[in-house]
Amino acid sequence: MRVIPKDKVIFSFNAKHPFAHSVEDGETFWVETDDCYSGQITGPGVKRPDIDISIMDCSVGPIEIKGAQPGDTLCVEILAIEFAPQGVMVTSKGLGVLGDRITEPDTKVIPIKDGFAQFSETIRLPLTPMVGVCGVAPKPGLDIHCAVPGDHGSNMDTKMVKVGSRVYLPVAIPGAGLAVGDLHACMGDGELSGTGIETPGRICIKTTVYHDRPVERPVIETSDDLYFLASAVTLDEAIKIAVADTVEFLQKKLDLNFPDAYRLLSATCDIQISQVVNDLKTVRVHCPKFNTGIATL
Ligand code: CA
Ligand code: ZN
Repeated sequence: MRVIPKDKVIFSFNAKHPFAHSVEDGETFWVETDDCYSGQITGPGVKRPDIDISIMDCSVGPIEIKGAQPGDTLCVEILAIEFAPQGVMVTSKGLGVLGDRITEPDTKVIPIKDGFAQFSETIRLPLTPMVGVCGVAPKPGLDIHCAVPGDHGSNMDTKMVKVGSRVYLPVAIPGAGLAVGDLHACMGDGELSGTGIETPGRICIKTTVYHDRPVERPVIETSDDLYFLASAVTLDEAIKIAVADTVEFLQKKLDLNFPDAYRLLSATCDIQISQVVNDLKTVRVHCPKFNTGIATL
């Protein structure tokens, strides 16, 4: 199986970036990644103010997916996530929801072994592996830093981007231009202190191009659920976009009028927060498939 090394990265998503690699529609391959700090935090002595944050969340790619055309949907199926033996969590002034309470920056190195993160001598966390950045080239003319989430995916910091999930992204250019990075060994909804357990590693993914499942923004599918994602400056704006997408999907999929789709949404779907710490905040509408009879996106 092909292994894409982590040496070719992008710092922004941009239709103009030349492809670094090329894979077939339907191919399964590994992608190696650094942590979100591009490996700059080499130990507890390196604090966040010491590093170059302009290269944060850089992502491996862009990867051409042969056959993908504008208007198609790229499905990125996460088959496996493997980690290096340690991750890091930094705190720093202003970082995260309570960043105003931080006076001194601090870096914590967290060993990762046998499916657990050794947070302290007594606290051992089961891993919740996820991919922070997964995106495709946006519409031509845009240049969006890899730290910023959007309709093209990227730094969604959503814990459902995990093994077993299928991430659907809207293709804007021929070849799509997939890039991934920013693996987290553990992260809760919100990414509240501003980081997950930031860990280098590798991801096994399968890419499939769909011509008949149009999406305007990222949608995640698991065996039982669909998640409609949206990112915006405020949570309220993001919620409105994600809810509108879900209602439109329910209308089309189940042949419902707007009031009924709206009611069905309210009766069965949940709004959930992916992250509140990036330039744009990300929410998702959780839409369970079982009680609506929906088989797939
Ligand atoms: Ca991130
Ligand atoms: Zn991260």
